[in-house]
Amino acid sequence: MAEAQLPRRVDAVKLVDNNQQLNAHIDSSKLTRLGETAVRCDAPVHCNIQFARDPENNRLLSGSCHTQVVMTCQRCLGDATIPVESSFELGLVFNDDQARQLPKRLEPVELDEQGILDLWTAMEDEVLLALPSYPVHTQGECELKQPEPAPEITESDEKRPNPFDVLAKLKQ
Ligand SMILES: [Zn+2]
Repeated sequence: MAEAQLPRRVDAVKLVDNNQQLNAHIDSSKLTRLGETAVRCDAPVHCNIQFARDPENNRLLSGSCHTQVVMTCQRCLGDATIPVESSFELGLVFNDDQARQLPKRLEPVELDEQGILDLWTAMEDEVLLALPSYPVHTQGECELKQPEPAPEITESDEKRPNPFDVLAKLKQ
């Protein structure tokens, strides 16, 4: 069964009241900030989301999302496919006052006056936060080879002008 597309704007208050669970994906080409941060992101962002209230009656959005992005390997500067995975527990609030009252473990996400949440933006934030600050290939995939032993000097090498000699002559 094909996984549904995650709705962009949702009535978060209603979804919390219904204890709604969503398993769906976002077409990552629609996530412009992710597209600008990574070299590219072809894979969809798969989301597994649960709306609920916690025992203290806070509105919660919890779950996880995962995708794959292509980033520049900081070792060889080639394209590296990086799996990205994030788990989150967000507190849905209407204003800064409510955000301040949330327990520390909950990261606040603000709803608009009607209780509407931009779910794509919230999930994109989670993916962006989960990107590695120093992306590198997994071992064995990196194009940067171990330094090779110095080649033996051949006749043609000896005839080649030394670039430092040329520079020295230019300075004279
Ligand atoms: Zn590499």
